[in-house]
Amino acid sequence: MKKEIIKIKRDKYFKARGSQTRILKLRCSHCNKLLFSYQKDGLPGGWLKRCYLNRIISNKKINSTKPLKCCEVIGIPYKYKDGRIAFKLAKGTFKRSYGDPVLK
Ligand SMILES: [Zn+2]
Repeated sequence: MKKEIIKIKRDKYFKARGSQTRILKLRCSHCNKLLFSYQKDGLPGGWLKRCYLNRIISNKKINSTKPLKCCEVIGIPYKYKDGRIAFKLAKGTFKRSYGDPVLK
């Protein structure tokens, strides 16, 4: 399998979270389809409640004006209090796993 090289975003949000990050893969919990990879800043742990659009790593264009869906609605777009567009994720509709990407 080809190793995936992911260029992580190192912006003020990344720095605010202690300059630590992990790459997750989100899959539909029904059909197991890969939805996208995600750069989650900060220490590991905690439930994933939202995904910021600018942290989603995908070859496909993610439409931030429509709900994110696969077999059912997984996330609803909204504006987070800091002004960033995010998807509010519905519990139980997705699975996450930690991949083994090469961070740059
Ligand atoms: Zn699905």
